[in-house]
Amino acid sequence: MNAELRPRPVPGLGLAAIGAEEEALVLEVLRSKALFRYAGLDPAVPPAMTARLEKEFREAIGTDYALAVSSGTGALEVAMAAAGIGPGDEVIVTAWSWIACFTAIVRVGARPVLAEIDDTLNLDPSEIARLTTPRTRAVLVIHYQGVPADMERIQLEAHRRGLFVIEDCAQSIGSSYRGRNVGTWSDIATFSFQANKTMTSGEGGMVVTRDGWLYERAVRFHDLGNYRPYHVATRPATSEAFAGGQFRMSELTAAVALGQLRKLETLRAHCRALHERITTRVASLRGLTLRRSPDPAGNFGFELYLFLADAAQATAFREKLDARNVNCGQRTGTYPQYHRDYVKNGRAHAPGASPFRGLEPWPAPGYRSEDFPRTEQLTRRFVAIPLGWLYTIEDADHIAASISAVHQELFPAL
Ligand SMILES: *Cc1c(COP(=O)(O)O)cnc(C)c1O
Repeated sequence: MNAELRPRPVPGLGLAAIGAEEEALVLEVLRSKALFRYAGLDPAVPPAMTARLEKEFREAIGTDYALAVSSGTGALEVAMAAAGIGPGDEVIVTAWSWIACFTAIVRVGARPVLAEIDDTLNLDPSEIARLTTPRTRAVLVIHYQGVPADMERIQLEAHRRGLFVIEDCAQSIGSSYRGRNVGTWSDIATFSFQANKTMTSGEGGMVVTRDGWLYERAVRFHDLGNYRPYHVATRPATSEAFAGGQFRMSELTAAVALGQLRKLETLRAHCRALHERITTRVASLRGLTLRRSPDPAGNFGFELYLFLADAAQATAFREKLDARNVNCGQRTGTYPQYHRDYVKNGRAHAPGASPFRGLEPWPAPGYRSEDFPRTEQLTRRFVAIPLGWLYTIEDADHIAASISAVHQELFPAL
């Protein structure tokens, strides 16, 4: 066997770190027999695990209010509902984003308006000016795979036009921008603890905000319109009940998420060390460009992106890295929204619920691949290399050496 070939480990994010801490917290909940956050066996004492998670999360992020919910998708619906977004409204969102970023907008009855990304793979801030109409209510910003979006420019463009800014931090828990955590740059922000994320409880999510009114409305929407005594103690009620959904977190979920939150900083330091070790060695290779970050100090570092000149080069590069046992992909689970079935057919769960009525013939301009030349071009010519808990410094060295070797094979003249 070629001595250069190392076994290919799975990178391993939150799931890989589950251990004694999570076990102890879950046992604590089980033994209390109090699985519902608002009521345990003793009606006088509300269970504490979800409340502890919210407190530590709030402190870790640096914000005023945190509300635990059942998923990252649920968090998006709750955040938009809290902001009062509904039928007739438009929400600007990048075409290159996770399924839920689009479907959550449709689910609250609003229309997603797709925007181009730039070489950060996040929203191009200048798209806000191009896409705002009198119906636009909000911009949904995704911090894609650990790299913060350019929040200062986005805030400026959005606030100038009176738009809400919602951050989707599902892929960037613990990333920051200009010294402040993602999730603190917007009116309201969301997180996911699904199994692929940097911290996980299998399913779960969080909504954070500094605005007490948005918090109250988020609480109401996540709990059938209720604003229970626990929340009244946090902030007195000021608004009326309205019909909400049910997106509550279980105490068992909160126990796992709390154990994971306490490990996030260590994972970040580990990923950043790996990321830096590789990038310092490959940054000067001609013909390769690293993904741009608007604030490299704020990157989480669990994925490394290399851009090549075109799709064919990216495929060749990926195949050669693959042959050297470097775990990599041309794409992650994300692909452009306009390639997804529900965008191609414009359907919601019932005909009257589709925000695309009146836009016939469908797909209308703004929902077809030919409308997104930059997103098409950018997302076809990168190679993504995941990093995580289970990678060692030797793995990072193997990745760096493999990138250099493949570069040498493909571009002997450079
Ligand atoms: C994972 C993810 C979500 C959805 O989270 P779930 O917990 O799976 O519902 C939303 N947005 C982004 C950007 C994600 O990566």
